[in-house]
This record gives sequence, C-alpha cells and structure tokens, in this order.
Amino acid sequence: MRKAKGLSLLSGGLDSQLAVCVLREAGAEVEAVTFASPFFSADAAKKAAAALDVPLTVVDFTADVISLLKDPPHGFGGAVNPCIDCHATMIARAGEMMRARGWDFVATGEVLNQRPMSQNRQSLGVVERSSGLAGRLVRPLCAQLLEPTVPETEGLLDRSKLLALSGRRRETQMALARHYGLHDYPSPAGGCKLTEKGYARRVRDLMEHEGLDDLRLVRLLNIARRFRLPGGTGVILGRDAEENAMLSAAAGKGFVRVSPKTMVGPVALLPEATFRDSPETVARLVAAWSGRVKDGCAGETPAVMFDAADGPRAVEVPRECKREEFLQWQIL
Ligand code: SF4
Repeated sequence: MRKAKGLSLLSGGLDSQLAVCVLREAGAEVEAVTFASPFFSADAAKKAAAALDVPLTVVDFTADVISLLKDPPHGFGGAVNPCIDCHATMIARAGEMMRARGWDFVATGEVLNQRPMSQNRQSLGVVERSSGLAGRLVRPLCAQLLEPTVPETEGLLDRSKLLALSGRRRETQMALARHYGLHDYPSPAGGCKLTEKGYARRVRDLMEHEGLDDLRLVRLLNIARRFRLPGGTGVILGRDAEENAMLSAAAGKGFVRVSPKTMVGPVALLPEATFRDSPETVARLVAAWSGRVKDGCAGETPAVMFDAADGPRAVEVPRECKREEFLQWQIL
C-alpha cells in the first residue's frame, strides 16, 4: 500500500516537532509548513525542520493575520491574539497546499484540552469545520481520542501508532522528546507578539488611529517608544542608535521625520495622516529625550528639525523641556 503524504504545521515548539515524529512512525511521508508575519517569525520552525530533516515551506501570513485583527470571527484571546481564527486560517492555507499537491492530510501538534480555550473538543471541531478540512485534519498526538480521519479509515495511517494525549501535563511529551532525541525547542507560550499585553496596547492604538494598512507602521510596532498626543498625533521615538537608523530608513512618503538640530538625540517618526498637534509640542517632546548640545552648536537657539514632503523646517524649543509633560501620553 502506498504511504500517506501529509503537511504538518510546524511552529518549532515541542508538540509540533513530536507530531512529525509520530506521523512518521504511523507510516506517513511528512513535509512541514510554517507561517511568518510581523507578529511571529519562522526562525524556530526553520531550526526545528533542520533538526528533524523535514522539508519546510514558509508561508507569508501577513495579509491573513491583519485581516483577522480587523475582524476576528471568534474574537481575541487574552491580548489581541485571534487564536481560533488564526489557527483555522493556517490550517486552511495548509489545506490548499495539500490539495494542490494531491496529498492526503494536514496535521497539527494539538493536544486535546491542553489549552482551555483553543484546544478543547469544541474548539478542535470548530477549527476543523471552518478550515474546510473535515476528515483530512490529523492530530497525531491525540488522534485516538478523536474520530478517525480519512487516511486512518483508508488504512494509509496506522491509527494504533497515533497517540491519546490529553490535558496540560507535559510528562509524556518530555519522555517522547527524549525518545526521539529532541533537545532544542522554545517554551510553549513564547513566540507570538499578539499574546503580549503591552504589545497589544500598541496594536490597539494603531488600529484606532492610523489603521493596519500601512505595513511600515505595523513592522515598527516592534521597536521604539510610542506616544499618542492629545490631538491624535502618533509619535514613534527611537530609543537608541539602531532604532534611530531603522526609523530613518522607514521615513518617506506619508511620514514626517523629526530629529534634534542642535542637540544629540533621538529620531522620531510621525505618520502624516494623524499629525494634528502643534509642531512646537512634538519638538518639545523630542527635545525632552535629547541630551547634550552638539559640537559647534553651543551658541545656537535650541531647535528641532522637521523633514516633511514640503521640505525641512526648524522649530525652536525652550532650553529646558521636561519628559514629565509627555509621560501621560506614552503607550506602555
Ligand atoms: S498565538 Fe499568535 S500565531 Fe498562534 S494562533 Fe494565536 S494569534 Fe496565531
């Protein structure tokens, strides 16, 4: 009998690695797929795929996850993580690839009842139905607790070699990791910025004001200090030389770049669409985070430069600008 062929979702976490190992034991030929976006990377999956010696396809998931952030049919988890829909969409994308290749199944490393919200029996059913993969979605780590899938009933996958894991305890997974020689895997919770509460505040602020359509702004969510001034102006303020360079590189159409003229200090980027506070207010903010006077500028009136589409312009600031004025508007 021919071997079952399937595509296994690989995050790089232990369960997704074990899924590949168990599927192989059950007689399947497995390739892996992972998803990347500004909110999560494919790095852990690439490392795991190399260790498992499994071919890996990396899919750019940016447009999908942004669309889910705007309208998540099953809502968010504890932060701005649309996990149920995100997971279902990843499985649906893997399903499209499976069909295009004429393969038999898509697999995941889910364990029944491991996560109270997203991995209970009902959620697993929702994900299977909404991804359009009924009967073709194999969960090798808990398959024996679920209805047999098509490749199992067709005898292409040996159900007796699939597992019956349930719950949050990880002893069995740790024992399996030792059995399969898996030593390198990130913690189960890490990896997705959308689950972090502080990051979620930045995402919500961006959604409310500039929106998520400009990918430059989405990518910049990972760096810099953020302020939302009372008039609605968004200020992205570099914290060090590396972030200042990144902000300068991102500057261009749609942004005003601000930097101290006479002091050593940070670069700020303002989205033009929400630049509604006075330039003097923004200039004081940038000056408040600036340091010493630049060499050769000691006799000059302190000033901050604005580089916009209509050309550069200097705005003078008082000698003393206090951070306290702006802390109330910082997004922490
Ligand atoms: S943790 Fe992040 S990547 Fe994972 S399903 Fe949730 S939103 Fe998607």
